[in-house]
Amino acid sequence: MQLLIRANGQQATIAMDSAGNQVLEVGEYRYRPAQIARKVRQLATRMWGADLAPEILNERLTFEALDGGRPNGPWSDSGSFSPRSGSFVTLGRWDEDGSVGIALHELAHEMHLRGGGYDASDGVVREAVSLLAEREAGLVRSFEREPYYTASNLVAQLAALPAFARQPFSKRWAELTAVTNDLGLADLVNFYLDRSERLGLARWLQRLSDDVELRDALLARLAATTLRYSLELRRQLIGRLVRCDPRTPPEQLAYVLDSIVTLDRRYPNDDLGRIIDFCFAPHSRPRRRLFAFG
Ligand SMILES: [Zn+2]
Repeated sequence: MQLLIRANGQQATIAMDSAGNQVLEVGEYRYRPAQIARKVRQLATRMWGADLAPEILNERLTFEALDGGRPNGPWSDSGSFSPRSGSFVTLGRWDEDGSVGIALHELAHEMHLRGGGYDASDGVVREAVSLLAEREAGLVRSFEREPYYTASNLVAQLAALPAFARQPFSKRWAELTAVTNDLGLADLVNFYLDRSERLGLARWLQRLSDDVELRDALLARLAATTLRYSLELRRQLIGRLVRCDPRTPPEQLAYVLDSIVTLDRRYPNDDLGRIIDFCFAPHSRPRRRLFAFG
């Protein structure tokens, strides 16, 4: 781990692991380079164990302290990763622990690359994988821009679902890196929501058909419909779906999901919950009437 300092046209490099008690001030923050190195090593080892090749931390992670601390405004990136030159973390935008979180974010890109998933993944998955790692390191951020926006929403939803969150990091990492696009992530959220809250989706699908491809196609449709939904809306949509008679032809169910997307697009100011109820109404089984004689 290297620390690159640039000030007044001069440049110096510090080996962070052996920086002793040295303290560095950048902008409004104070950093202890040796402490940062120790924390990053500890966290990265805990997350990736033997997969973390020594050269990754020794040669491919660089912290930078630039003149003036925060030169490029609030949206400038606090870190970057490139397959060629590795990870860079800019000090001055987050405090010491936050900067450690950013380092784990960039290292996650490196581990994703070495695991073979990075090149095959879209931008949302790449960021989701890294946001999972920075969360594990204690940094939780929210975003207004894509691809971070969708990625951070989906990762936050997964983190709120006990069936996902209770698993060891290695299992959560494997789940996210097995996915290659945003729809795969939305599908993962639906899967863990169903497991966490026993919504009955898996059981209902089995009654619907024993054709795996057909079930997968319906799940893919569900993922596309719910890509930007909150957990609340997912819960509602899945709840309505599993109340449909399992003898309903699957193409009719797909049509219902498509109508929700169409109506939502056509009437963006209408309440989406009501659109969902409206589209499912013709397919809902009547609830058992306990008071039919009342
Ligand atoms: Zn990133």
